Amino acid sequence: MDEAREDGRLVREAREGPGKARLVEPPEELHPEVLAALSRMKIERLYSHQAEAVYASWEGPTIVTTGTASGKSLCFNLPTLDVLCRDARARALYLYPTKALAQDQARALSAFGLAKQVRPAIYDGDTPREARADIRRRANVVLTNPDMLHVGILPNHPAWAELFANLAVVVVDEAHVYRGVFGSHVANVLRRLRRIAAAYGTSPRFLLTSATIANPVELAERLTGLEDFSLIARDGSPAPGRRIAVWNPPLTDEDLGQRRSALAEAAELLARLVRDGARLICFMKSRKGVEVLHKLLVADLESADSPGSGLPASGLPDDGLPLSGPELARLVAPYRAGYTSQQRRELEGRLVRGELRAVITTDALELGIDIGELDAAVVVTFPGTVASLRQMWGRAGRRGRGLAMYVAGEDALDQFFCRHPDDFLERPVEAAILDHENAQIFRPHLLCAAHEGPLSSEDAEFLGPRWEAHAEILQSAGELRHRTGGVGPTVVPGRADPGEPRPALSTYVPRDSGGYPAGEVSLRSASPDSFAIVDVASGELLGSTEAARAHSTVHEGAIYLHLGRSFEVRELDLPRRRALVAPFDGDWYTQPKRVTDTTIERLLDRRETLGVTLSFGEVSVTDTVLAYQRRRLADHAAVELVGLDLPPTSFSTQALWFEFPSAALGLGETIPLEALLGALHATEHVQIAVLPLIAMCDRWDIGGLSTNLHPQTGGATIFIYDGHPGGIGITRTAFQRFEELCHDAHRLVAECPCASGCPSCVQSPKCGNLNEPLSKAGARLLLERMLGAGGEQTMELSAKEPAGRNRSERGASLLKA
Ligand SMILES: [Zn+2]
Ligand SMILES: [Zn+2]
Repeated sequence: MDEAREDGRLVREAREGPGKARLVEPPEELHPEVLAALSRMKIERLYSHQAEAVYASWEGPTIVTTGTASGKSLCFNLPTLDVLCRDARARALYLYPTKALAQDQARALSAFGLAKQVRPAIYDGDTPREARADIRRRANVVLTNPDMLHVGILPNHPAWAELFANLAVVVVDEAHVYRGVFGSHVANVLRRLRRIAAAYGTSPRFLLTSATIANPVELAERLTGLEDFSLIARDGSPAPGRRIAVWNPPLTDEDLGQRRSALAEAAELLARLVRDGARLICFMKSRKGVEVLHKLLVADLESADSPGSGLPASGLPDDGLPLSGPELARLVAPYRAGYTSQQRRELEGRLVRGELRAVITTDALELGIDIGELDAAVVVTFPGTVASLRQMWGRAGRRGRGLAMYVAGEDALDQFFCRHPDDFLERPVEAAILDHENAQIFRPHLLCAAHEGPLSSEDAEFLGPRWEAHAEILQSAGELRHRTGGVGPTVVPGRADPGEPRPALSTYVPRDSGGYPAGEVSLRSASPDSFAIVDVASGELLGSTEAARAHSTVHEGAIYLHLGRSFEVRELDLPRRRALVAPFDGDWYTQPKRVTDTTIERLLDRRETLGVTLSFGEVSVTDTVLAYQRRRLADHAAVELVGLDLPPTSFSTQALWFEFPSAALGLGETIPLEALLGALHATEHVQIAVLPLIAMCDRWDIGGLSTNLHPQTGGATIFIYDGHPGGIGITRTAFQRFEELCHDAHRLVAECPCASGCPSCVQSPKCGNLNEPLSKAGARLLLERMLGAGGEQTMELSAKEPAGRNRSERGASLLKA
């Protein structure tokens, strides 16, 4: 460690905790059976936040955001069990983003030993058909996922009348997962749920949990459409003692910004920890990465007598006998997707008991809940958000000696993190963003709702004040029929007051009442318009991808990552809307080259700031994929450029754009076009790179375009747009927080030690123009001027950097991120 501190690899060390627990008596108002169950489980006292959550849940909707392993489940299980003990007819619905988590929770509920009062059952795609009717009848806690609620439960609500007529509690666990496209869908599903429940005369209490994010209450309100959420954020559980280490692999070429690979660096660190006897878990984003890291680690362990880590000996095995290299190598395992929950539990058990030293895995969410006894949690490359980094780190914390480590990659965000670890770690920065009114998402759900019961003015309470405008559009499209007069809506059979005659109302009903619209809406994509991904050998359907992205992600020859596995696209079948793929094990990846046009369709908001005119609105984006580049995985070197012949595609979305008044910025005719373009293009890249810090999203969710002359604005303009059809609010947030965005972008580019641009600053792994032209100095100057930090300098771009070598095929005026 000392050595690493000296050579700058260890960029931050901190110690957290251990902190004392704040314990309180369980609320004595809880039902005696629940109190008895707690004492049977030897839970004599609660953490303060658990008791607070119980009281809050009795008052109104509640969201809990305390740390990993702080006993969040108890926060919603206690009020739920209380209701079920008091009311034999009451029902609860638990929503989990994954099947595995639902299974863990079903086990946790059974552990209370209240078999008479509490009958949990999992209802998901794996539930055998013959068991379903019994679950509908008997279970009083139904654990499911939003997809099943959307496609299986809500459309068939008459079969679930018992549940809806007695629905007391809805639990939404891991709510931060519901953001972006998925979140925008789930927000609609939850509104439909509230609407159907109301039709059966119930108004269930919503209890949510989330990782630490910047906007938990806003997320809860946007997800459910309810207001007045109580926030329980003060964690009463004992903070585990933990050392935090942020590790940056050393630069191998400072000018080019090249670093030693994070995988190689991590393998070495892990090997040392394993030799020291630590039990650890290691997280990586891609399955490929997991496999490579596992191989490197095994190789390192097998090559005997390497040095120990110099890290604190964190839990030596009790027998203390040194193991040989090959013996150690057998104690590490990769942890792949597709394990059953029993296999997962077994692996976790072996890890906790010390029969395994290290597990390398892709996704924290797939893990069970109770493995908080590990010595170390190592995260290799930035997982996308600080919230998930913290969740992964939360696995470490054994007897006050846990080590939470992060090994940085070369991406811009990774390196930005390494320069400002305190900024990242000391405040929740990211907001979970969703937009349930995205027309492409909202309208299909409105149609689903109409199938679940006629739409009427009463639905504004659930579907929002603008639902009718959308219903009119669906009517013109021939999907809905407007009905006035006649008998008022009985809305739903089983309604609490079915006999009441109602005044004649205006309603919307489906034109085709026999349809099943929910079956055509996937909660995981922005548009029902999609391409199927099919295994060429087996014909198996692996998944689907949005049509708007198909040309750039699954063109012929593309290397496509699906659920952590790599595939090579053999054929993109445009008429049949499918991509035929084969498993891929090669050592390259691909990057599409394309040209893009944006057309401003509608201006929604505008303000003057930082010397530019900043706008937000709707745009249409037209893309033509021209070619793709093969690059070596090891060093990203370009191997080959392969031409493609694909027609243009276009979609509408939300965007922000800003125009530079040429006089104000001193953009005179003296600046060579190439230099100006390089400056604009690089500015666009760095802004996109830091956008995930404001709005929880991936840089792959965002697109950009910069031009020295946009036909509609008449000047130099940078566009940043939502990559999903219709947009999901990412650029709206960026519009509102534009000054922060520019500030972070400026820091990113100004602080990078490279000479003229590198993958850690202005280069983008997804640039449609293959990162040309780019001017790091130009971007820095532009941003400095915008932030008023640039003084009276003039733009002297041409002398500092070589111009880009290779222009876009359509002339240099359009550049695509
Ligand atoms: Zn750089
Ligand atoms: Zn670009």
